[in-house]
Amino acid sequence: MNQQEAERSAVDPDEWPTMEVVKQALADPHWRPVPFYQFIIKLHGRCNLSCDYCYMYELADQSWRGKPVAMTQETIDQAARRIGEHIRAHNELSRVEVILHGGEPLLAGPSTLAYAATAFRNAATARSPVTLTMQTNGVLLDDNVLPVLREHHIRVGVSVDGDREGHDRHRRYADGRGSYDLVMRGLERLRRPAYRDLFAGVLCTVDTANDPIDVYEALLACSPPMINFLLPHGNWNEPPPGRGEDPGSTPHADWLIQIFDRWYDTAPPPTRIFLFEEIMTLILGGTGRSETVGLGAAGIIVIETDGTFELVDSLKSSFEGAPATGLDIFNNSLDDALLHPGVVARQRGSAALCDTCLACPIHKICGGGYYPHRYRVGSGFLNPSVYCADLTRLIGHIGQRMARDIEALKERTSDANTAAAAR
Ligand code: SF4
Repeated sequence: MNQQEAERSAVDPDEWPTMEVVKQALADPHWRPVPFYQFIIKLHGRCNLSCDYCYMYELADQSWRGKPVAMTQETIDQAARRIGEHIRAHNELSRVEVILHGGEPLLAGPSTLAYAATAFRNAATARSPVTLTMQTNGVLLDDNVLPVLREHHIRVGVSVDGDREGHDRHRRYADGRGSYDLVMRGLERLRRPAYRDLFAGVLCTVDTANDPIDVYEALLACSPPMINFLLPHGNWNEPPPGRGEDPGSTPHADWLIQIFDRWYDTAPPPTRIFLFEEIMTLILGGTGRSETVGLGAAGIIVIETDGTFELVDSLKSSFEGAPATGLDIFNNSLDDALLHPGVVARQRGSAALCDTCLACPIHKICGGGYYPHRYRVGSGFLNPSVYCADLTRLIGHIGQRMARDIEALKERTSDANTAAAAR
């Protein structure tokens, strides 16, 4: 895509990121676009639940109404061709993740799942195998679909918000019935020996109305190999639930810290917690893999049911049309999408942070927070996260706990060295 085409595909030419971000990146001799490595495939565009916080259906962007209900085989084939083309154009990619998503991807049915899995696996090369994952609400994890997931080695992440009370507070059917019992039944099936290795983990959206330790223990009872916590979506114009009026308050950090302390003080840890591990890695100077903290380049693209390329769909919480790129798999390559301002902005590291974040002592760890949470009408995404105070407190707390342990380790090492020298 040339610069003119990129300009036409920008969502809002007045709000950051504008085409200026692309021009600056292209003028930077040290910058190269990072090829996409994570492809979120919207296999089915509707959901059998009606969770009240869902960014797909309940927040600002309502574009799902004009899109096909499900991806056709023709669209699946073309998406797979584009991914294969991208792998080859970039001399093989060490990491290629296809995430089957929705809506609810299990509504696509076993035969479509099998078809899509085969098509996307065929996009792989010997040096760039494709891993397949699915993010589901878990309700339809039954004996019809599990053998298909097994056959095609599709790993499964399940959304669970805690115990029955916490989970059913939001994750309900349109008629108000909770989904907890059916999700627990689905998880029981997934944990059977024949499928256990397909269980990727649980994703929990934080709700400060729930007791954090009750939520943590309920999630541990699901025996997940990994837990991830998601902050509820919102921005400076539409603050997330539970943030409150006081910009200095830290309700979400206070909630997460109670879980962090319980997890960190348990040896060995009962499971992995992705958000905490990422922050700890970044504090130690390592390279993170998360798109919610740190300054790593995000190589993520969404392919919608109609074949359009979209930016991450949590942007739907910002404004109508926020994730749109104006590009699609039938007329554009994935390389075209790499030069969209919304993609470039997430691949520029500290060069894409606002002045407040740049001056912040923890910006290399925080990374300005999750991109959709930075939105403010007028300045777009060039702002600190609406969770700035929470991120400062959470990262500070984890850093202090680690610093105390590192100090103690240094003392023990020094004592051991002294004892060895005296022998
Ligand atoms: S969002 Fe806040 S804590 Fe994060 S880098 Fe920006 S100023 Fe620092």
